[in-house]
Amino acid sequence: MRGMFDHSMSIGDAIEWGESFLDESLELEGRSRADSTLLLRHVLGIPHAELYAYRERHLTQLQLATFQSLINARLKGKPIQYITCEQEFFGLPFLVTPDVLIPRPETEHLVEAAIARLQNCSAPRIVDVGTGSGCIAVALAHAMPHSQMVALDISAAALAVAEQNARQNGVTERIHFLQSDLLAAVVGERFDAVVSNPPYIALSERASLAREVREFEPALALFAGATGLEIYQRLIVEAKDLLASGGWLLMEIGHGQKSAIEKLLQGWDALEFVPDLQSIPRVVVARKV
Ligand code: GLN
Repeated sequence: MRGMFDHSMSIGDAIEWGESFLDESLELEGRSRADSTLLLRHVLGIPHAELYAYRERHLTQLQLATFQSLINARLKGKPIQYITCEQEFFGLPFLVTPDVLIPRPETEHLVEAAIARLQNCSAPRIVDVGTGSGCIAVALAHAMPHSQMVALDISAAALAVAEQNARQNGVTERIHFLQSDLLAAVVGERFDAVVSNPPYIALSERASLAREVREFEPALALFAGATGLEIYQRLIVEAKDLLASGGWLLMEIGHGQKSAIEKLLQGWDALEFVPDLQSIPRVVVARKV
């Protein structure tokens, strides 16, 4: 089948063609069929069920050509979310472009932890540092209708994506977007919570990352510096100045960073690590004394 590209291909044949083509790439092993199906659905703009109901239906030449180019992009390692431009997070739809990190399910633990800590706060003011796609800020604003959010990012391109996501999810009036290096743009303000999924990968780990991440996701969103702890070192100090007493700091952390983070948060109250589904400490929660 590989290499053959029939100009009157049915939906069923096209899925199989895409699968066999993607199977050539070892890193995609096991995901070829799902990816081929998803990309074809994207091209045709139809729900999953219809794809199977109309297996025998033939694609137009333009649909075939588009599908082929998407399969080629995927074969080169482009993440599926950068091809379809979408990713769900906390049950909400998000636009993603190569200017932003693709929202990860682990980050939903941070959102859950923040909601739990702030449930007794009637109108919390929250700042999201390094908002990227805006997934954390938008999910929090959506879940807490009386909250006010500030979403910061050093990247203007990322902020444009985040603003679009706020609009798409109906929370644009309660999120203020600002370009900022960490918390610099809000110095002097007061917040009930600082939340962040900062870059936390050490530059030395670059080679060990999956190709999809290494070659396609923005380096600015991934790498902190030589140790991976550089952003936490700055952010923890800056957050302390802006938090009300009793305010919460919640940050996602990387694999193996727990004890280093514990040291950086000496003097904070109610220190807690939330494990992800693989039991890796993934979110740190601390309260300002
Ligand atoms: N806040 C965004 C997220 O959690 C972006 C994080 C980042 O770019 N490091 O996905």
